[in-house]
Amino acid sequence: MGRVSIVRSAGAPKDSEVKELVKRSIDLVGGLGSVVKRGDVVALKPNVVTGRVSRPGVLTDKRVIEAMIVMCQEAGASEVRVVEGSGYFTPTDVALEKSGVKAAAEALGARVVDVDKDQLVELPVPGHLIVDRIPVSRAFMEADVRINLPVMKTHDQLLVTLGVKNLKGVIPKPWKRNFHKIGVVKAIVDLSRAVPIDLTVLDAINAMEGLGPSFGDVVPLNTVMASRDIWSLDLAASRVMGFDLEELDYLKEGLKLGLFDPKKLEVVGEPIEKVARKFKRPPTDLEFGEGITVISDGACSACRGTIHSVVYDLEQMKMMGEIRDLTIVVGANAKVPKGLKCTPLVMGTCLKAQEREGCYVVGCPPNNDQMLAAIRKVCKLT
Ligand code: SF4
Repeated sequence: MGRVSIVRSAGAPKDSEVKELVKRSIDLVGGLGSVVKRGDVVALKPNVVTGRVSRPGVLTDKRVIEAMIVMCQEAGASEVRVVEGSGYFTPTDVALEKSGVKAAAEALGARVVDVDKDQLVELPVPGHLIVDRIPVSRAFMEADVRINLPVMKTHDQLLVTLGVKNLKGVIPKPWKRNFHKIGVVKAIVDLSRAVPIDLTVLDAINAMEGLGPSFGDVVPLNTVMASRDIWSLDLAASRVMGFDLEELDYLKEGLKLGLFDPKKLEVVGEPIEKVARKFKRPPTDLEFGEGITVISDGACSACRGTIHSVVYDLEQMKMMGEIRDLTIVVGANAKVPKGLKCTPLVMGTCLKAQEREGCYVVGCPPNNDQMLAAIRKVCKLT
């Protein structure tokens, strides 16, 4: 444990080079033959968080998923499953369809499993931090081998989303929301302890910085990383992104629990320093200066990202100066305050019970156009 590989291509890899890149990364940590045996059922867990945003860096590169399917078949897998549950704001079948992952996987003979339609198994979390039992996709858990295929991105709540956070896609949507209610940092640590992963292959061909996990800027890193140890992979990858362990709460929790040991980190292939780049930090707060107040409690990254994206749109439209006394209330635990000067904007499906307390914007999350229309209304802009 503790060994992490880093491989990089000299430039943007051509389609024909991606498989070789993935293979080299795995060979450096023992080869796929040490993970997949003849006759095994293999479950792959990519990141297909949405089908609506299709820029590079948002989802696991389809070519990486295809390479893994083919390599598992070549290693003798009797079945390869691509298992995913998208973010709550996109139905999983839509995400799998629009992203092209379903068609690509099925064309190679893999079975595509929508976590939100799959049966669930309830897994205990021994010595849990915050949640003692977690329902997880049966198709994922009953596979002989589980391979995690995250993409390297910044994240507005966790700062990074890498191997550990990617596991959230194997739980059903209501539980994803629940994770944000109870505290996503400890919840993903518990999840990773409940779900053993045999191999993680991190796609950093196109990574994302800034307003991750969906609205950030692409970073063409032309890199793939792999490890049998998901925690060591996250440690090494976060260093590649220029983050310090002390900045990352979930890594600190994992360290306290002894889930990895930074002293045992062994990087093979390219050294971290050779590929490292200081990624632009995601905006983590919801403070936008005078005129805009955000009351947020239990909001997930989708709504938080939407607010940042809408404020960006307002800036581009040079409308920020016209915004006065705008209060946005967001998140499953948030309460709309009484006695505000102006009508508050009540954002998102999880606040439906309070829809009469302000100008309600439906959606999970609402889209930018709906938000902008509501802002124009409550701020009485033409
Ligand atoms: S409405 Fe927003 S905060 Fe509420 S569950 Fe949906 S994405 Fe999360």
